[in-house]
Amino acid sequence: MAGLKLSHIYKVYPNGAKAVNDFNMDIEDKEFIVFVGPSGCGKSTTLRMIAGLEDITAGELKIGGSVINNVEPKDRDIAMVFQNYALYPHMTVYKNMAFGLKLRKTPKEEIDRKVKEAAEILGITEYLDRKPREMSGGQRQRVALGRAIVREPKVFLLDEPLSNLDAKLRTAMRSEISKLHAKLKTTFIYVTHDQVEAMTMGTRIVVMKDGFVQQIDSPRNLYRYPENKFVAGFIGTPQMNFLDCRIKLCGNKAEVALDGTDAKFSVPSEIFNKAERKYLDGVQELILGLRAEHISANAEKYAYRAKCRVTNVEELGVESLLYADFDLNLRDGAGESPTRIILKADAGADYEYGSVIEVSLDLSNMIVFDKVTEKSIMHRIPEAVVVDGEVKAGVLKMLGWKTVLPPAIRLEDGKYSVTVPVSAVALNGDIKAEIFKEEQINGKRLSHLRVADRVLFTLDDGARPENVKGVSIDLKQLTFTDGERGVDALNCVNSLECSFVKFKDEHGRGYGLDIAGSVLSCTQDTADTVLGVCGRDIYKRKLEMKISVYDVKISVDGIPAEVVRVLDYGEETFAVLDLGGQTVTVAVEKGFSGTNEKIGFDLNKTELYEKERDIRLI
Ligand code: ADP
Repeated sequence: MAGLKLSHIYKVYPNGAKAVNDFNMDIEDKEFIVFVGPSGCGKSTTLRMIAGLEDITAGELKIGGSVINNVEPKDRDIAMVFQNYALYPHMTVYKNMAFGLKLRKTPKEEIDRKVKEAAEILGITEYLDRKPREMSGGQRQRVALGRAIVREPKVFLLDEPLSNLDAKLRTAMRSEISKLHAKLKTTFIYVTHDQVEAMTMGTRIVVMKDGFVQQIDSPRNLYRYPENKFVAGFIGTPQMNFLDCRIKLCGNKAEVALDGTDAKFSVPSEIFNKAERKYLDGVQELILGLRAEHISANAEKYAYRAKCRVTNVEELGVESLLYADFDLNLRDGAGESPTRIILKADAGADYEYGSVIEVSLDLSNMIVFDKVTEKSIMHRIPEAVVVDGEVKAGVLKMLGWKTVLPPAIRLEDGKYSVTVPVSAVALNGDIKAEIFKEEQINGKRLSHLRVADRVLFTLDDGARPENVKGVSIDLKQLTFTDGERGVDALNCVNSLECSFVKFKDEHGRGYGLDIAGSVLSCTQDTADTVLGVCGRDIYKRKLEMKISVYDVKISVDGIPAEVVRVLDYGEETFAVLDLGGQTVTVAVEKGFSGTNEKIGFDLNKTELYEKERDIRLI
């Protein structure tokens, strides 16, 4: 039994097809993970890389704490179950199940015990003497599972194991596999394109699209808090309703207007506490997402009402699905329309096509997406809050707080929009604040804070100081804007162009990174990793290194660079240096006044990217 760690995993096929991009995930022991997404999104490729059937182009894969990128499939302690069962037709069920163990020279009695135990678990004891062709699809799939079980692997990998079965059998096998997981208490990774399978089986689900992970979360969170329109539309049936809208903030209310209709709702502005204000100007094009169950044909059920025209009714027995359109002018509305909604009504409900009815909406459950990026504008963990600030003679006034700006932030007098990232806010400090809500999100705690007339957020690991009465704000992380004027936040991560080189000096041969003509030598391990991903082509490729300002140091044996500026933020000081035309920022001691310096990089803390194919190498 074991957990898995996938770090920055990429797959580029020899023909250049980039099937998986920067896949990162920690899978705990005994989890049931489902990879789901439309055909071609990279789920099978990821599974096959875990199995060792496909090389990993870049990144690191660990099972049970050991790196297994280069470990043979048979030595990985995993077992894979395929869609097409892959049974030997001329062997009996018993022999099919025993085959792998026999190859491993397992003693006969042990094989016998394991095969019989697995057959018992799967309810196929009476078929042990049959050949696969004498069995149904469901039974064959059980044999394939049995063959995996007898190996007692640390991890089970299942690639669309049920897609050859009919709908009824699929549902039955679905719960059998879930039961099997509970019984075996082993890590399962299951690939499917069917969102219902994913939702019913997974403890956590990875939704993928075009080789990119869209969201990793529990079934419930994916349903309730989709990060983007794709996830929102992919998970759940009937599909979430999407309506073009605009939202305007007016004091403690926000007006939500549906495009192409007369429908308008005035909702409490708190719903949008997590949304960036720029979206709430009544002009930005947005998409409102609301699930069928949050719209009712009973006009009294929810707080917000609107008229719509009935276009279709689907009777499902337990309930019916009502298709209606908010565009009342639409006469022939059977087809798709941007203002169409699907809602749930009672079974047997009688609606006349074309009639106008009043529905009610539960807008506290709406999700709003940016129409262009299709990302949710109310992320569960917001990135930043934009607040108003005013500067007068070097003193900043914002959020009912006054502070003298440090020398690094030189602003003319005037009003500014100040972007405060969540990471800049820390609990305890002299800005008066009150925590009014807390949420646990993926192991972190998000505190909602009332600060003057605004809501800020902070994220922590759970160890919170007692009696929080105030917060502090890290000034170097703030961005101030006022049209042309302003000051950017300090960029805490340096990004430098470089190339990979082989060199020879008095100590011998080695590999290194060439930055503007100076070479930083790297360890053999690092060189092996980089060469492993790119081969000999690496010497021609443009690379980018990323390193935190805290992992670059002024150091006597570093690369020469010229100080351009010193940024004094009071508690911290940074030097900005020119390194052959590229800019590097370095944390320095207070009072630093150097001009020509040498800087050293901690290569253990450097990220290295190949720019052309956008792959992280280390
Ligand atoms: P899924 O399992 O989600 O349907 P795959 O992982 O099979 O998707 O494929 C992901 C992408 O990689 C697809 O665009 C597919 O065409 C491509 N691909 C898969 N296998 C190969 C291969 N052997 N050579 C080149 N491209 C491949």
